Amino acid sequence: MCAAPLVMRADVGDGDKARLTCPDGHWTHWDNPLPVLAALVEIEGRILLARNAAWPAKNFALITGFMERGETPEQGVARELQEETGLHAETISLIGVYEFIRKNELIIAYHVRASGEISLSPELVEFRLVAPERLKPWRAGTGYAMADWMRSRGLDVEFVDWGT
Ligand SMILES: [Zn+2]
Repeated sequence: MCAAPLVMRADVGDGDKARLTCPDGHWTHWDNPLPVLAALVEIEGRILLARNAAWPAKNFALITGFMERGETPEQGVARELQEETGLHAETISLIGVYEFIRKNELIIAYHVRASGEISLSPELVEFRLVAPERLKPWRAGTGYAMADWMRSRGLDVEFVDWGT
């Protein structure tokens, strides 16, 4: 704001956390976690997993996206589902909220029952429809949401490592 170079500084009363800040106190880079919406999408009893173009060949994941200004998380997850898969959200229920500290994100995960024809956006290269009992979450982020959803259905959870 004042064009002064930022400095790393821990302010009194702020838990000794060092933050990038203007030396004259005009501005602080709080670097708060960003909310990310995730959808465990169910179509006719099976779960839709999609692979991002930038990911290893065996990694299929939930549908995720960022919120837009002025929308509720439920509206956001329905919009992301439509944009990324062409599907329509019929019911949306919260699975839980999960840390993703490594990326400074907070994951808000929903179970979404959906209908329609699957048409992937360019950022997703392929999809699978998986029976719930065959899901294998990884031990991070959306994987914990998948595991909690499976346990809520009385399913055993077997974790896998990312990329294997
Ligand atoms: Zn300043």
